[in-house]
Amino acid sequence: MTHIYDKPEDFKEQVLDGFARAYSRYVERVPHAAGFVRRGGPRAGKVSVVVGGGSGHFPSYSGTLGPGFVDGAVLGDVFASPSAEQVYRVGRAASGGAGVVLAYGNYAGDRLNFGAAQERLQAEGIDCRNVYVTDDIASAVPSEADKRRGIAGTFLVYKVGGAAADQGLDVDGVERVMRKANANTFSYGVAFAGCTMPGKHEPLFVVPPGQMEFGLGIHGEPGISSESWLPAATLAERLVHAVLAERPADADGRAAVIVNGLGATKYEELFVLNGWVDRLLREAGVVSVLPEVGELVTSLDMAGCSLSILWLDDELEALWSAPADTAAFRRGETSALPTFEQHRTDSAETEHHEAIRSATPASRAAAVTARACIGAMADVVLENEDRLGEIDAVAGDGDHGTGMARGVRAARETADATDGGVGSVLRAAGDAFADKAGGTSGMLWGLALGSMGDSLGDSEAVTPERALVAVRAGADAIKRVGKAELGDKTMLDALFPFVDSLGGQLDQGVSLAEAWATAAAVAVEAAEATAALKARVGRARPLAERSIGTPDPGAVSMGLIVTRVGDVLATASCADRG
Ligand code: ADP
Ligand code: MG
Repeated sequence: MTHIYDKPEDFKEQVLDGFARAYSRYVERVPHAAGFVRRGGPRAGKVSVVVGGGSGHFPSYSGTLGPGFVDGAVLGDVFASPSAEQVYRVGRAASGGAGVVLAYGNYAGDRLNFGAAQERLQAEGIDCRNVYVTDDIASAVPSEADKRRGIAGTFLVYKVGGAAADQGLDVDGVERVMRKANANTFSYGVAFAGCTMPGKHEPLFVVPPGQMEFGLGIHGEPGISSESWLPAATLAERLVHAVLAERPADADGRAAVIVNGLGATKYEELFVLNGWVDRLLREAGVVSVLPEVGELVTSLDMAGCSLSILWLDDELEALWSAPADTAAFRRGETSALPTFEQHRTDSAETEHHEAIRSATPASRAAAVTARACIGAMADVVLENEDRLGEIDAVAGDGDHGTGMARGVRAARETADATDGGVGSVLRAAGDAFADKAGGTSGMLWGLALGSMGDSLGDSEAVTPERALVAVRAGADAIKRVGKAELGDKTMLDALFPFVDSLGGQLDQGVSLAEAWATAAAVAVEAAEATAALKARVGRARPLAERSIGTPDPGAVSMGLIVTRVGDVLATASCADRG
Protein backbone atom coordinates (compact mmCIF):
# COMPACT_ATOMS: atom_id res chain seq x y z
CA MET A 1 0.00 0.00 0.00
CA THR A 2 0.98 3.61 -0.52
CA HIS A 3 -0.19 5.39 2.63
CA ILE A 4 1.12 8.91 2.09
CA TYR A 5 -0.32 10.82 -0.84
CA ASP A 6 -2.78 13.57 -1.75
CA LYS A 7 -4.22 13.30 -5.25
CA PRO A 8 -2.71 10.23 -6.94
CA GLU A 9 -2.12 12.24 -10.12
CA ASP A 10 0.06 14.67 -8.14
CA PHE A 11 2.17 11.88 -6.63
CA LYS A 12 5.18 12.11 -8.94
CA GLU A 13 5.43 15.89 -8.72
CA GLN A 14 5.20 15.77 -4.93
CA VAL A 15 7.94 13.15 -4.80
CA LEU A 16 10.22 15.36 -6.91
CA ASP A 17 9.44 18.42 -4.81
CA GLY A 18 10.03 16.76 -1.46
CA PHE A 19 13.23 15.16 -2.70
CA ALA A 20 14.56 18.46 -4.06
CA ARG A 21 13.85 20.21 -0.75
CA ALA A 22 15.89 17.65 1.14
CA TYR A 23 18.74 17.26 -1.33
CA SER A 24 19.25 20.66 -2.94
CA ARG A 25 22.94 20.17 -2.08
CA TYR A 26 23.02 17.51 -4.80
CA VAL A 27 20.37 18.46 -7.36
CA GLU A 28 18.46 21.31 -8.95
CA ARG A 29 15.16 21.13 -10.79
CA VAL A 30 15.13 21.63 -14.56
CA PRO A 31 12.57 24.40 -15.26
CA HIS A 32 9.32 23.07 -16.78
CA ALA A 33 10.52 19.48 -16.61
CA ALA A 34 10.07 16.48 -14.36
CA GLY A 35 13.73 16.05 -13.65
CA PHE A 36 16.97 17.21 -12.18
CA VAL A 37 20.50 18.12 -13.08
CA ARG A 38 23.39 18.14 -10.65
CA ARG A 39 23.68 21.12 -8.35
CA GLY A 40 25.41 23.91 -10.31
CA GLY A 41 24.30 22.49 -13.67
CA PRO A 42 26.46 20.84 -16.31
CA ARG A 43 30.23 21.20 -16.40
CA ALA A 44 31.90 22.60 -19.51
CA GLY A 45 33.73 19.97 -21.52
CA LYS A 46 32.40 17.03 -19.50
CA VAL A 47 30.13 14.37 -20.96
CA SER A 48 26.79 14.20 -19.13
CA VAL A 49 25.01 10.95 -18.34
CA VAL A 50 21.24 11.37 -18.06
CA VAL A 51 19.19 8.46 -16.73
CA GLY A 52 15.48 8.02 -16.39
CA GLY A 53 12.27 6.11 -16.71
CA GLY A 54 9.05 5.86 -14.76
CA SER A 55 8.80 6.93 -11.11
CA GLY A 56 8.54 4.39 -8.33
CA HIS A 57 12.12 3.06 -8.39
CA PHE A 58 13.93 5.31 -5.91
CA PRO A 59 16.91 5.60 -5.33
CA SER A 60 16.89 5.18 -9.08
CA TYR A 61 17.04 7.74 -10.59
CA SER A 62 17.11 11.02 -8.65
CA GLY A 63 19.12 9.51 -5.82
CA THR A 64 22.17 8.99 -8.01
CA LEU A 65 22.96 12.56 -9.14
CA GLY A 66 26.27 13.90 -8.02
CA PRO A 67 30.03 13.74 -8.51
CA GLY A 68 31.12 10.33 -9.76
CA PHE A 69 27.63 9.24 -10.73
CA VAL A 70 25.04 10.66 -13.12
CA ASP A 71 24.42 14.26 -14.26
CA GLY A 72 20.69 14.29 -14.91
CA ALA A 73 17.53 12.32 -14.18
CA VAL A 74 14.14 12.51 -15.89
CA LEU A 75 11.04 10.89 -14.43
CA GLY A 76 7.71 9.85 -15.87
CA ASP A 77 4.65 9.02 -13.84
CA VAL A 78 4.74 5.87 -11.74
CA PHE A 79 6.03 3.08 -14.02
CA ALA A 80 5.39 5.19 -17.18
CA SER A 81 8.08 6.48 -19.51
CA PRO A 82 8.74 10.22 -19.40
CA SER A 83 7.66 11.94 -22.62
CA ALA A 84 10.24 12.70 -25.30
CA GLU A 85 9.72 16.39 -24.53
CA GLN A 86 10.66 15.86 -20.88
CA VAL A 87 13.71 13.81 -21.80
CA TYR A 88 14.72 16.46 -24.30
CA ARG A 89 14.42 19.26 -21.74
CA VAL A 90 16.48 17.46 -19.13
CA GLY A 91 19.03 16.31 -21.72
CA ARG A 92 19.42 19.86 -22.96
CA ALA A 93 19.73 21.27 -19.45
CA ALA A 94 22.37 18.65 -18.64
CA SER A 95 24.49 19.28 -21.72
CA GLY A 96 27.91 20.75 -21.02
CA GLY A 97 28.97 20.80 -24.66
CA ALA A 98 30.91 17.51 -24.69
CA GLY A 99 27.98 15.20 -25.41
CA VAL A 100 25.10 13.58 -23.54
CA VAL A 101 24.46 9.87 -23.01
CA LEU A 102 20.81 9.02 -22.36
CA ALA A 103 20.49 5.76 -20.44
CA TYR A 104 17.38 3.77 -19.55
CA GLY A 105 15.99 0.26 -19.24
CA ASN A 106 14.86 -1.62 -22.32
CA TYR A 107 11.10 -0.92 -22.44
CA ALA A 108 9.14 0.01 -25.58
CA GLY A 109 7.87 3.33 -24.23
CA ASP A 110 11.28 4.41 -22.95
CA ARG A 111 12.96 3.43 -26.19
CA LEU A 112 10.53 5.51 -28.24
CA ASN A 113 10.69 8.57 -26.03
CA PHE A 114 14.43 8.57 -25.35
CA GLY A 115 15.01 7.82 -29.05
CA ALA A 116 12.96 10.83 -30.13
CA ALA A 117 14.68 13.06 -27.57
CA GLN A 118 18.04 11.90 -28.88
CA GLU A 119 17.03 12.96 -32.41
CA ARG A 120 16.04 16.40 -31.22
CA LEU A 121 19.18 16.92 -29.20
CA GLN A 122 21.29 15.82 -32.15
CA ALA A 123 19.37 18.18 -34.43
CA GLU A 124 20.45 20.97 -32.08
CA GLY A 125 24.07 19.98 -32.41
CA ILE A 126 24.35 18.10 -29.10
CA ASP A 127 26.27 14.85 -29.58
CA CYS A 128 23.69 12.62 -27.94
CA ARG A 129 23.98 8.84 -27.54
CA ASN A 130 21.50 6.27 -26.26
CA VAL A 131 22.28 3.22 -24.15
CA TYR A 132 19.51 0.89 -22.98
CA VAL A 133 20.11 -1.75 -20.37
CA THR A 134 19.12 -5.40 -20.91
CA ASP A 135 20.23 -7.25 -17.75
CA ASP A 136 17.14 -9.33 -16.86
CA ILE A 137 17.98 -12.90 -17.91
CA ALA A 138 14.43 -14.11 -17.21
CA SER A 139 12.88 -11.91 -19.88
CA ALA A 140 14.45 -13.45 -23.02
CA VAL A 141 16.80 -16.28 -23.95
CA PRO A 142 20.55 -15.51 -24.38
CA SER A 143 20.29 -15.51 -28.19
CA GLU A 144 17.75 -12.69 -27.86
CA ALA A 145 19.63 -10.78 -25.16
CA ASP A 146 18.80 -7.49 -26.88
CA LYS A 147 15.12 -8.02 -26.01
CA ARG A 148 15.77 -8.37 -22.29
CA ARG A 149 14.33 -5.86 -19.83
CA GLY A 150 16.40 -3.57 -17.67
CA ILE A 151 16.08 -4.21 -13.91
CA ALA A 152 18.54 -3.72 -11.02
CA GLY A 153 21.56 -4.11 -13.31
CA THR A 154 20.77 -0.61 -14.58
CA PHE A 155 22.37 0.69 -11.38
CA LEU A 156 25.70 -0.96 -12.24
CA VAL A 157 25.74 0.30 -15.82
CA TYR A 158 24.84 3.86 -14.79
CA LYS A 159 27.48 3.92 -12.05
CA VAL A 160 30.19 2.86 -14.48
CA GLY A 161 29.04 5.41 -17.08
CA GLY A 162 28.81 8.24 -14.56
CA ALA A 163 32.29 7.48 -13.26
CA ALA A 164 33.69 7.38 -16.80
CA ALA A 165 32.21 10.79 -17.60
CA ASP A 166 33.58 12.29 -14.40
CA GLN A 167 37.03 10.97 -15.17
CA GLY A 168 36.99 12.90 -18.42
CA LEU A 169 36.30 10.20 -21.02
CA ASP A 170 34.84 11.60 -24.24
CA VAL A 171 31.35 10.71 -25.40
CA ASP A 172 32.56 7.76 -27.49
CA GLY A 173 34.40 6.46 -24.45
CA VAL A 174 31.45 6.83 -22.08
CA GLU A 175 29.10 5.14 -24.54
CA ARG A 176 31.62 2.35 -25.09
CA VAL A 177 32.10 1.54 -21.38
CA MET A 178 28.35 1.62 -20.76
CA ARG A 179 27.72 -0.80 -23.62
CA LYS A 180 30.51 -3.01 -22.38
CA ALA A 181 29.09 -2.90 -18.83
CA ASN A 182 25.63 -3.76 -20.13
CA ALA A 183 26.93 -6.71 -22.13
CA ASN A 184 28.54 -8.01 -18.93
CA THR A 185 25.62 -7.46 -16.54
CA PHE A 186 23.12 -10.20 -15.66
CA SER A 187 20.27 -10.12 -13.16
CA TYR A 188 17.68 -12.56 -11.89
CA GLY A 189 15.06 -11.94 -9.26
CA VAL A 190 12.17 -13.31 -7.28
CA ALA A 191 8.90 -11.66 -6.24
CA PHE A 192 6.98 -12.38 -3.01
CA ALA A 193 4.18 -9.78 -3.33
CA GLY A 194 2.99 -7.21 -5.85
CA CYS A 195 3.06 -3.46 -5.42
CA THR A 196 0.10 -1.12 -5.14
CA MET A 197 -0.14 2.15 -7.06
CA PRO A 198 -0.82 5.32 -5.03
CA GLY A 199 -4.57 5.67 -4.49
CA LYS A 200 -5.31 2.05 -5.40
CA HIS A 201 -6.38 -0.62 -2.95
CA GLU A 202 -5.41 -3.72 -4.87
CA PRO A 203 -1.87 -4.68 -5.80
CA LEU A 204 -0.97 -4.93 -9.48
CA PHE A 205 -0.51 -8.68 -9.02
CA VAL A 206 -0.89 -11.18 -6.21
CA VAL A 207 1.53 -13.98 -5.34
CA PRO A 208 -0.52 -16.79 -3.75
CA PRO A 209 0.40 -17.53 -0.09
CA GLY A 210 3.29 -19.97 0.23
CA GLN A 211 4.53 -19.19 -3.30
CA MET A 212 7.30 -17.12 -4.86
CA GLU A 213 7.60 -16.00 -8.45
CA PHE A 214 10.92 -16.16 -10.28
CA GLY A 215 11.77 -13.71 -13.06
CA LEU A 216 10.39 -10.55 -11.47
CA GLY A 217 9.73 -7.29 -13.30
CA ILE A 218 10.07 -3.87 -11.71
CA HIS A 219 6.79 -2.37 -12.97
CA GLY A 220 4.24 -4.53 -11.26
CA GLU A 221 4.62 -7.31 -13.81
CA PRO A 222 4.14 -10.71 -12.17
CA GLY A 223 7.01 -13.21 -12.21
CA ILE A 224 7.54 -15.58 -15.08
CA SER A 225 7.31 -18.87 -13.15
CA SER A 226 5.64 -19.62 -9.83
CA GLU A 227 6.99 -22.03 -7.19
CA SER A 228 6.49 -23.06 -3.59
CA TRP A 229 8.36 -21.12 -0.90
CA LEU A 230 12.07 -22.02 -0.67
CA PRO A 231 14.44 -21.57 2.30
CA ALA A 232 17.05 -18.80 1.95
CA ALA A 233 19.88 -21.23 1.15
CA THR A 234 17.95 -22.81 -1.73
CA LEU A 235 16.69 -19.46 -2.96
CA ALA A 236 20.26 -18.17 -3.08
CA GLU A 237 21.34 -21.27 -5.01
CA ARG A 238 18.61 -20.71 -7.57
CA LEU A 239 19.56 -17.07 -8.12
CA VAL A 240 23.31 -17.68 -8.19
CA HIS A 241 23.10 -20.65 -10.54
CA ALA A 242 20.86 -18.79 -12.97
CA VAL A 243 23.16 -15.77 -13.11
CA LEU A 244 26.41 -17.78 -13.24
CA ALA A 245 25.02 -19.82 -16.14
CA GLU A 246 25.48 -16.70 -18.28
CA ARG A 247 29.05 -16.01 -17.19
CA PRO A 248 30.92 -14.83 -20.31
CA ALA A 249 33.81 -17.04 -21.41
CA ASP A 250 36.35 -14.25 -20.98
CA ALA A 251 35.29 -13.22 -17.44
CA ASP A 252 38.26 -13.62 -15.08
CA GLY A 253 36.10 -13.87 -11.95
CA ARG A 254 36.09 -10.27 -10.69
CA ALA A 255 32.55 -8.97 -10.38
CA ALA A 256 30.45 -6.13 -9.01
CA VAL A 257 27.62 -7.84 -7.14
CA ILE A 258 24.32 -6.34 -6.03
CA VAL A 259 21.67 -7.95 -3.85
CA ASN A 260 18.78 -5.57 -4.44
CA GLY A 261 15.57 -5.18 -2.45
CA LEU A 262 12.42 -4.16 -4.32
CA GLY A 263 10.92 -1.94 -1.64
CA ALA A 264 9.13 -4.09 0.93
CA THR A 265 11.79 -6.71 1.62
CA LYS A 266 13.76 -5.88 4.75
CA TYR A 267 17.50 -5.28 4.80
CA GLU A 268 17.83 -8.09 7.35
CA GLU A 269 16.30 -10.54 4.88
CA LEU A 270 18.61 -9.30 2.16
CA PHE A 271 21.61 -9.91 4.44
CA VAL A 272 20.42 -13.45 5.16
CA LEU A 273 20.23 -14.05 1.42
CA ASN A 274 23.58 -12.37 0.83
CA GLY A 275 25.27 -14.71 3.31
CA TRP A 276 24.44 -17.61 1.03
CA VAL A 277 25.00 -15.67 -2.18
CA ASP A 278 28.48 -14.64 -1.11
CA ARG A 279 29.44 -18.20 -0.06
CA LEU A 280 28.19 -19.66 -3.33
CA LEU A 281 29.97 -17.03 -5.41
CA ARG A 282 33.26 -17.67 -3.60
CA GLU A 283 32.89 -21.41 -4.17
CA ALA A 284 32.45 -20.63 -7.86
CA GLY A 285 35.67 -18.63 -7.87
CA VAL A 286 34.01 -15.22 -8.10
CA VAL A 287 35.89 -12.30 -6.52
CA SER A 288 33.27 -9.83 -5.40
CA VAL A 289 34.47 -6.21 -5.68
CA LEU A 290 32.76 -3.70 -3.35
CA PRO A 291 29.43 -5.55 -3.24
CA GLU A 292 26.22 -3.71 -2.35
CA VAL A 293 23.23 -5.06 -0.44
CA GLY A 294 20.19 -2.84 -0.22
CA GLU A 295 17.49 -0.97 -2.06
CA LEU A 296 18.96 0.43 -5.27
CA VAL A 297 16.21 -0.12 -7.84
CA THR A 298 12.81 -0.52 -6.18
CA SER A 299 9.29 -1.05 -7.44
CA LEU A 300 7.12 0.91 -4.98
CA ASP A 301 6.20 -1.48 -2.16
CA MET A 302 6.83 -4.67 -4.04
CA ALA A 303 8.29 -7.51 -1.98
CA GLY A 304 11.12 -9.30 -3.70
CA CYS A 305 14.81 -9.24 -4.38
CA SER A 306 17.25 -9.77 -7.18
CA LEU A 307 20.87 -10.65 -7.75
CA SER A 308 22.89 -8.68 -10.31
CA ILE A 309 26.44 -9.38 -11.44
CA LEU A 310 28.64 -7.16 -13.58
CA TRP A 311 31.74 -9.07 -14.71
CA LEU A 312 34.70 -6.71 -14.41
CA ASP A 313 37.90 -6.13 -16.34
CA ASP A 314 40.53 -3.59 -15.22
CA GLU A 315 38.69 -0.65 -16.77
CA LEU A 316 35.28 -1.58 -15.40
CA GLU A 317 36.70 -2.41 -11.97
CA ALA A 318 38.31 1.03 -11.73
CA LEU A 319 35.04 2.72 -12.74
CA TRP A 320 32.87 0.66 -10.39
CA SER A 321 35.30 1.35 -7.52
CA ALA A 322 35.63 5.08 -8.28
CA PRO A 323 34.39 7.63 -5.72
CA ALA A 324 30.83 8.95 -5.89
CA ASP A 325 28.81 11.30 -3.74
CA THR A 326 25.04 11.36 -4.28
CA ALA A 327 21.92 11.54 -2.13
CA ALA A 328 21.57 7.76 -2.02
CA PHE A 329 25.03 6.39 -2.75
CA ARG A 330 28.44 7.44 -1.44
CA ARG A 331 31.83 5.90 -1.91
CA GLY A 332 35.38 7.17 -1.42
CA GLU A 333 36.68 10.72 -1.67
CA THR A 334 35.26 12.66 -4.62
CA SER A 335 37.58 15.62 -4.13
CA ALA A 336 40.14 13.55 -6.07
CA LEU A 337 38.01 13.71 -9.24
CA PRO A 338 39.09 16.09 -12.03
CA THR A 339 37.30 19.44 -11.82
CA PHE A 340 35.40 21.04 -14.70
CA GLU A 341 34.26 24.64 -14.99
CA GLN A 342 30.57 25.37 -14.75
CA HIS A 343 28.92 25.51 -18.17
CA ARG A 344 26.88 28.57 -19.14
CA THR A 345 23.99 28.03 -21.56
CA ASP A 346 21.78 30.46 -23.42
CA SER A 347 18.29 29.86 -22.19
CA ALA A 348 15.76 28.20 -24.47
CA GLU A 349 13.70 31.37 -24.17
CA THR A 350 16.37 33.50 -25.87
CA GLU A 351 16.54 31.15 -28.82
CA HIS A 352 12.77 31.09 -29.05
CA HIS A 353 12.68 34.86 -29.37
CA GLU A 354 15.39 34.75 -32.01
CA ALA A 355 13.16 32.42 -34.03
CA ILE A 356 10.22 34.79 -33.82
CA ARG A 357 12.28 37.75 -34.89
CA SER A 358 13.71 35.90 -37.87
CA ALA A 359 10.39 34.57 -39.25
CA THR A 360 9.61 36.01 -42.69
CA PRO A 361 6.17 37.40 -43.62
CA ALA A 362 5.64 34.45 -45.98
CA SER A 363 6.31 31.97 -43.19
CA ARG A 364 4.12 33.92 -40.76
CA ALA A 365 1.29 33.75 -43.31
CA ALA A 366 1.74 29.97 -43.57
CA ALA A 367 1.65 29.84 -39.76
CA VAL A 368 -1.91 31.16 -39.87
CA THR A 369 -2.94 28.17 -42.00
CA ALA A 370 -0.95 25.82 -39.74
CA ARG A 371 -2.86 27.08 -36.68
CA ALA A 372 -6.16 26.54 -38.52
CA CYS A 373 -5.08 22.98 -39.42
CA ILE A 374 -4.18 22.20 -35.80
CA GLY A 375 -7.55 23.63 -34.75
CA ALA A 376 -9.35 21.41 -37.25
CA MET A 377 -7.38 18.41 -36.04
CA ALA A 378 -8.45 19.21 -32.48
CA ASP A 379 -12.12 19.50 -33.47
CA VAL A 380 -12.26 16.20 -35.29
CA VAL A 381 -10.42 14.28 -32.56
CA LEU A 382 -12.63 15.70 -29.81
CA GLU A 383 -15.78 14.90 -31.82
CA ASN A 384 -14.58 11.30 -32.21
CA GLU A 385 -12.93 10.81 -28.82
CA ASP A 386 -15.31 8.11 -27.57
CA ARG A 387 -15.33 6.19 -30.82
CA LEU A 388 -11.51 6.09 -30.97
CA GLY A 389 -11.43 4.81 -27.40
CA GLU A 390 -13.92 2.07 -28.19
CA ILE A 391 -11.92 0.88 -31.18
CA ASP A 392 -8.73 0.81 -29.11
CA ALA A 393 -10.49 -1.15 -26.34
CA VAL A 394 -11.10 -4.11 -28.66
CA ALA A 395 -7.48 -5.23 -28.70
CA GLY A 396 -5.51 -2.34 -27.14
CA ASP A 397 -5.94 -0.52 -23.85
CA GLY A 398 -8.82 1.79 -24.75
CA ASP A 399 -6.94 5.05 -24.31
CA HIS A 400 -6.51 6.20 -27.90
CA GLY A 401 -9.41 8.67 -27.70
CA THR A 402 -8.47 10.21 -24.37
CA GLY A 403 -4.77 10.34 -25.23
CA MET A 404 -5.31 11.99 -28.61
CA ALA A 405 -7.80 14.40 -27.01
CA ARG A 406 -5.22 15.49 -24.41
CA GLY A 407 -2.71 15.92 -27.23
CA VAL A 408 -4.86 18.01 -29.55
CA ARG A 409 -6.06 20.30 -26.77
CA ALA A 410 -2.48 21.05 -25.80
CA ALA A 411 -1.37 21.38 -29.42
CA ARG A 412 -4.15 23.85 -30.24
CA GLU A 413 -3.53 25.95 -27.16
CA THR A 414 0.19 26.07 -27.87
CA ALA A 415 -0.15 26.76 -31.59
CA ASP A 416 -2.51 29.64 -30.83
CA ALA A 417 -0.09 31.05 -28.27
CA THR A 418 2.99 30.70 -30.47
CA ASP A 419 4.07 33.64 -32.54
CA GLY A 420 6.54 33.20 -35.39
CA GLY A 421 6.85 31.23 -38.59
CA VAL A 422 5.14 28.01 -39.63
CA GLY A 423 8.11 25.94 -38.49
CA SER A 424 8.02 27.32 -34.95
CA VAL A 425 4.27 26.91 -34.68
CA LEU A 426 4.28 23.26 -35.80
CA ARG A 427 7.31 22.44 -33.67
CA ALA A 428 5.73 23.97 -30.56
CA ALA A 429 2.40 22.24 -31.26
CA GLY A 430 4.17 18.90 -31.72
CA ASP A 431 6.09 19.27 -28.49
CA ALA A 432 2.94 20.12 -26.58
CA PHE A 433 1.11 17.20 -28.19
CA ALA A 434 3.79 14.67 -27.27
CA ASP A 435 4.11 16.03 -23.78
CA LYS A 436 0.43 15.85 -22.93
CA ALA A 437 -0.98 12.98 -25.02
CA GLY A 438 1.13 10.12 -23.65
CA GLY A 439 0.91 6.70 -25.25
CA THR A 440 2.62 5.52 -28.38
CA SER A 441 0.52 7.54 -30.75
CA GLY A 442 1.02 10.72 -28.71
CA MET A 443 4.74 10.41 -28.96
CA LEU A 444 4.64 9.58 -32.69
CA TRP A 445 2.20 12.35 -33.59
CA GLY A 446 4.23 14.89 -31.63
CA LEU A 447 7.32 13.75 -33.45
CA ALA A 448 5.61 14.01 -36.84
CA LEU A 449 4.32 17.53 -36.23
CA GLY A 450 7.72 18.64 -35.00
CA SER A 451 9.48 17.08 -38.00
CA MET A 452 7.07 18.82 -40.35
CA GLY A 453 7.83 22.10 -38.58
CA ASP A 454 11.58 21.55 -38.87
CA SER A 455 11.18 20.73 -42.54
CA LEU A 456 9.17 23.89 -43.27
CA GLY A 457 11.27 26.25 -41.16
CA ASP A 458 10.56 29.92 -40.54
CA SER A 459 11.75 31.63 -43.68
CA GLU A 460 10.50 30.18 -46.95
CA ALA A 461 6.89 30.25 -48.20
CA VAL A 462 5.06 26.92 -48.28
CA THR A 463 4.73 25.67 -51.85
CA PRO A 464 2.90 22.39 -52.65
CA GLU A 465 6.33 20.76 -53.16
CA ARG A 466 7.56 21.90 -49.74
CA ALA A 467 4.32 20.79 -48.13
CA LEU A 468 4.84 17.32 -49.60
CA VAL A 469 8.45 17.21 -48.38
CA ALA A 470 7.24 18.19 -44.90
CA VAL A 471 4.49 15.55 -44.84
CA ARG A 472 7.04 12.96 -45.98
CA ALA A 473 9.41 14.08 -43.22
CA GLY A 474 6.64 13.54 -40.67
CA ALA A 475 5.77 10.10 -42.02
CA ASP A 476 9.42 9.05 -42.21
CA ALA A 477 10.00 10.16 -38.63
CA ILE A 478 7.12 7.96 -37.45
CA LYS A 479 8.48 5.02 -39.37
CA ARG A 480 12.08 5.55 -38.26
CA VAL A 481 11.30 5.91 -34.57
CA GLY A 482 8.31 3.54 -34.34
CA LYS A 483 10.04 0.91 -36.51
CA ALA A 484 6.73 -0.47 -37.75
CA GLU A 485 6.35 -1.81 -41.29
CA LEU A 486 3.43 -1.44 -43.64
CA GLY A 487 0.92 -4.15 -42.81
CA ASP A 488 1.74 -4.17 -39.08
CA LYS A 489 -1.68 -2.62 -38.48
CA THR A 490 -0.70 0.87 -37.34
CA MET A 491 -1.34 4.45 -38.38
CA LEU A 492 1.32 3.96 -41.07
CA ASP A 493 -1.14 1.82 -43.00
CA ALA A 494 -3.25 4.95 -43.53
CA LEU A 495 -0.41 7.46 -43.66
CA PHE A 496 1.74 5.91 -46.38
CA PRO A 497 -1.11 5.46 -48.89
CA PHE A 498 -1.96 9.09 -48.14
CA VAL A 499 1.59 10.30 -48.82
CA ASP A 500 1.87 8.20 -51.99
CA SER A 501 -1.40 9.49 -53.36
CA LEU A 502 -0.52 13.09 -52.51
CA GLY A 503 2.91 12.83 -54.14
CA GLY A 504 1.57 11.16 -57.28
CA GLN A 505 -1.04 13.83 -57.83
CA LEU A 506 1.27 16.78 -57.16
CA ASP A 507 3.68 15.30 -59.71
CA GLN A 508 0.87 15.55 -62.24
CA GLY A 509 0.22 19.18 -61.41
CA VAL A 510 -2.97 18.77 -59.34
CA SER A 511 -3.42 21.62 -56.85
CA LEU A 512 -2.48 20.99 -53.21
CA ALA A 513 -6.04 21.33 -51.91
CA GLU A 514 -7.47 18.97 -54.51
CA ALA A 515 -4.67 16.45 -54.20
CA TRP A 516 -4.97 16.51 -50.42
CA ALA A 517 -8.71 15.83 -50.50
CA THR A 518 -8.27 12.85 -52.82
CA ALA A 519 -5.36 11.51 -50.75
CA ALA A 520 -7.43 11.87 -47.58
CA ALA A 521 -10.14 9.68 -49.08
CA VAL A 522 -7.46 7.09 -49.87
CA ALA A 523 -6.29 7.27 -46.24
CA VAL A 524 -9.79 6.73 -44.87
CA GLU A 525 -10.28 3.71 -47.08
CA ALA A 526 -6.88 2.32 -46.13
CA ALA A 527 -7.71 2.82 -42.45
CA GLU A 528 -10.93 0.83 -42.84
CA ALA A 529 -8.99 -1.88 -44.65
CA THR A 530 -6.73 -2.40 -41.60
CA ALA A 531 -9.67 -4.29 -40.08
CA ALA A 532 -8.48 -7.34 -42.00
CA LEU A 533 -4.94 -7.14 -40.58
CA LYS A 534 -3.46 -8.73 -37.47
CA ALA A 535 -1.59 -6.31 -35.15
CA ARG A 536 2.13 -7.06 -35.12
CA VAL A 537 3.46 -4.14 -33.02
CA GLY A 538 2.23 -2.00 -30.14
CA ARG A 539 -0.03 -2.85 -27.27
CA ALA A 540 -2.50 -4.69 -29.49
CA ARG A 541 0.11 -7.31 -30.45
CA PRO A 542 -0.53 -9.73 -27.55
CA LEU A 543 -4.21 -9.71 -28.54
CA ALA A 544 -3.54 -9.85 -32.27
CA GLU A 545 -6.27 -12.40 -33.04
CA ARG A 546 -8.84 -10.28 -31.30
CA SER A 547 -7.85 -7.26 -33.41
CA ILE A 548 -9.03 -8.93 -36.63
CA GLY A 549 -12.30 -7.40 -37.81
CA THR A 550 -11.67 -4.03 -36.13
CA PRO A 551 -9.64 -1.30 -37.84
CA ASP A 552 -6.53 0.08 -36.18
CA PRO A 553 -7.44 3.06 -33.97
CA GLY A 554 -4.34 5.04 -34.95
CA ALA A 555 -5.10 4.52 -38.64
CA VAL A 556 -8.71 5.58 -38.16
CA SER A 557 -7.73 8.80 -36.36
CA MET A 558 -5.18 9.45 -39.11
CA GLY A 559 -7.92 9.22 -41.75
CA LEU A 560 -10.17 11.55 -39.79
CA ILE A 561 -7.45 14.12 -39.24
CA VAL A 562 -6.11 14.34 -42.78
CA THR A 563 -9.69 14.64 -44.04
CA ARG A 564 -10.46 17.58 -41.78
CA VAL A 565 -7.14 19.27 -42.52
CA GLY A 566 -8.06 18.96 -46.21
CA ASP A 567 -11.16 21.05 -45.52
CA VAL A 568 -8.97 23.82 -44.09
CA LEU A 569 -6.63 23.70 -47.10
CA ALA A 570 -9.58 23.92 -49.49
CA THR A 571 -10.87 27.01 -47.70
CA ALA A 572 -7.41 28.55 -47.54
CA SER A 573 -6.86 28.06 -51.28
CA CYS A 574 -10.27 29.60 -52.10
CA ALA A 575 -9.28 32.57 -49.95
CA ASP A 576 -5.93 32.79 -51.78
CA ARG A 577 -7.69 32.94 -55.11
CA GLY A 578 -10.34 35.38 -53.91
P1 ADP B 1 -0.86 3.09 -26.73
O1 ADP B 1 -0.65 2.03 -27.76
O2 ADP B 1 0.41 3.47 -26.03
O3 ADP B 1 -2.03 2.79 -25.83
P2 ADP B 1 -2.60 4.79 -28.33
O4 ADP B 1 -3.71 3.89 -27.92
O5 ADP B 1 -2.85 6.25 -28.20
O6 ADP B 1 -1.26 4.43 -27.58
O7 ADP B 1 -2.22 4.55 -29.85
C1 ADP B 1 -2.32 3.29 -30.44
C2 ADP B 1 -1.99 3.45 -31.91
O8 ADP B 1 -0.62 3.81 -32.05
C3 ADP B 1 -2.14 2.19 -32.68
O9 ADP B 1 -3.47 2.03 -33.10
C4 ADP B 1 -1.18 2.38 -33.85
O10 ADP B 1 -1.81 3.02 -34.94
C5 ADP B 1 -0.17 3.32 -33.29
N1 ADP B 1 1.11 2.64 -33.08
C6 ADP B 1 1.46 1.82 -32.09
N2 ADP B 1 2.74 1.41 -32.22
C7 ADP B 1 3.19 2.00 -33.35
C8 ADP B 1 4.43 1.99 -34.08
N3 ADP B 1 5.47 1.30 -33.63
N4 ADP B 1 4.52 2.72 -35.22
C9 ADP B 1 3.47 3.44 -35.69
N5 ADP B 1 2.30 3.49 -35.04
C10 ADP B 1 2.15 2.78 -33.92
MG1 MG C 1 -3.97 2.61 -26.49
